[in-house]
Amino acid sequence: MDEFVMPDPEVRVEGARELARDLVVIPDRGVPLVPNIGVIGGTHSVLVVETGIGPGNAGEVLAFADEYAKGRRLYLTTTHFHPEHAFGAHVFAGRATFLVNRAQAEDLRVKGPGYLEMFRGLGETVARRLAGFEPAVPDVVYDDAYDLDLGGRVVRLRPTGRAHSKGDQVITVPDAGVMFTGDLVEAGQFAIFPWFPPHDTDVSGTRWITVMERLAAERPRVVVPGHGEVGGPGLLADVRDYLRLLRDETWARRDSAMSEESVAAEVAALMVERHPEWSGQEWIEKGVGCLCAEHQAVRPGGR
Ligand SMILES: [Zn+2]
Repeated sequence: MDEFVMPDPEVRVEGARELARDLVVIPDRGVPLVPNIGVIGGTHSVLVVETGIGPGNAGEVLAFADEYAKGRRLYLTTTHFHPEHAFGAHVFAGRATFLVNRAQAEDLRVKGPGYLEMFRGLGETVARRLAGFEPAVPDVVYDDAYDLDLGGRVVRLRPTGRAHSKGDQVITVPDAGVMFTGDLVEAGQFAIFPWFPPHDTDVSGTRWITVMERLAAERPRVVVPGHGEVGGPGLLADVRDYLRLLRDETWARRDSAMSEESVAAEVAALMVERHPEWSGQEWIEKGVGCLCAEHQAVRPGGR
């Protein structure tokens, strides 16, 4: 009766704001399943980061980018394959060069269909956004690293290795000190652990911590998280510290042979107390589940 109705995950391009010279972000406005979207320009080309969920949103983003580009060539990349980030890429076919890292291209191909079904099940508003979805085929797939020259500005595309998903990719604009992290970082929210055994167990808490240590060491001036407000390098430190604490508190309890259920309840209470203002509390337990499995892996049989 008072069932939660998912708000329409609509991208609103009119909210776009400039973060640096020739670099704008279309903010998520705090709406679930809307990502922060980037548009980065150089003298001859423009790169779009993320599509929004479904063809309608992607069409709006493409129209915005097209107008912004004023005749410059268009590229598209996505931080990872999750539907609100990448499930509009087919709309860009023939209009932009779609460029991704190999692990993400694999995720799109292998995991895309399952996520399409899962997200359709999230509610009517989301299912409507996904109507007309078609799988996108990347134009360029790279392995280790890709430096995209937009003309007078080189953007660095780097896969991080498995963390939030198998195919996570970070995009940095060195001349502006801006980093797009995708869901490796959320602002004002608990880290999203897509831990859905047996269907998807790619997320890794331990590897995610290593990635965050590396990204924090890069000290970008501006961090554009997957969701939530744009911030500074403190966002990277926040996620790193949260993940470390989540791991330590989970593993300490597993060492004393506590059941996973009790660990989850205790750790969730502790984390909420630590970050009472953060949303997405439901992801804490998923994170505990993931870290329990990884605890098992590093200490077989437990203790
Ligand atoms: Zn994600």
